[in-house]
Amino acid sequence: QAKEAGRNCYRFFSPEMNRAAEDRITLAAALRRAIREDRLSLVYQPQVMTGSRHLHGVEALARWIDPELGFISPGRFIPLAEETGQIEILGEWSLRTACRQMTSWMMHGIDIPIVSVNLSAIHFRDRNLPDTIARIMHETGMPPERLTIELTESTMIDNFEQTVEIVTAIRELGCGVSMDDFGTGFSSLSNLASLPVSEVKIDQSFMKGFEEPAGKVYSVVRAIVRIGQSLGMTVVAEGVETQAQYQLLRAMQCDVIQGYLFSRPLSPTDLAQWCITATPRNAQAVTCMNVPP
Ligand code: C2E
Ligand code: MG
Ligand code: MG
Ligand code: MG
Repeated sequence: QAKEAGRNCYRFFSPEMNRAAEDRITLAAALRRAIREDRLSLVYQPQVMTGSRHLHGVEALARWIDPELGFISPGRFIPLAEETGQIEILGEWSLRTACRQMTSWMMHGIDIPIVSVNLSAIHFRDRNLPDTIARIMHETGMPPERLTIELTESTMIDNFEQTVEIVTAIRELGCGVSMDDFGTGFSSLSNLASLPVSEVKIDQSFMKGFEEPAGKVYSVVRAIVRIGQSLGMTVVAEGVETQAQYQLLRAMQCDVIQGYLFSRPLSPTDLAQWCITATPRNAQAVTCMNVPP
């Protein structure tokens, strides 16, 4: 009995697990410090209209480079922030930073029509979220129609009714709401039909196998484009990396493209430069060097 318990204990507190737990605590503390000392930043990835190749908007994505730990991906620190009670403050920081950036672009005559900000499921448990967004827009001078909030399908699993109410209230503020990573969660279609979102983003996993002619992935993507559009939504394809993917998406009239083919996420300075080089002055279309008309 004792021997067995001892063995279980040993298994439970294996050195690897201790180290993993310590790493998590170290990382969580480092994140807390980074937020406090304002060392996180946002990068912005262009979203391009498929037909005209005008700039539709940009998606704000959080970046963290720690002086000691180096680059830590959002795939790691966002879940950590959610688990350690730091996501509320991080979400407000993302919103405020993106809104400030937008008003700065407007002041400098840099025409970025929309900025999209990612929020976590946890924010949608807070009934005050629309008020928080309204307050931040007010404080920063952000025009509501230039802000889109991205939420993922998993957001709705906890409390669908409340999510509908909050999304409705955010739309009433005049902001867009986008369903991110669409097609990976469950009961996707019923969620899409009953949420007043303005935009749907096809998950980037669909871009794998998409180029196969007459393939199943192709058919699914085309169906999502049709359904989204028939519900009056803007349809965005994420993770577009190849010419072939772009041409197929254009042929099926998917509205907006986001991916490395057009640009990686950029710092505000690089984005301003990208707008100048990719958009000829006064020209109607974004002409990307690597994408023929
Ligand atoms: P997401 O919102 O679905 O963002 C798209 C992700 O795909 C970004 O990864 C982007 O850099 C990447 N991506 C864009 N184009 C391509 C492409 O052509 N190919 C490939 N392979 N990837 C591409 P990133 O920046 O690492 O962010 C990962 C996720 O972290 C985001 O997924 C989002 O869910 C979350 N995230 C990022 N910033 C924030 C934030 O400020 N707040 C919250 N709550 N979540 C955030
Ligand atoms: Mg997103
Ligand atoms: Mg996504
Ligand atoms: Mg994602």
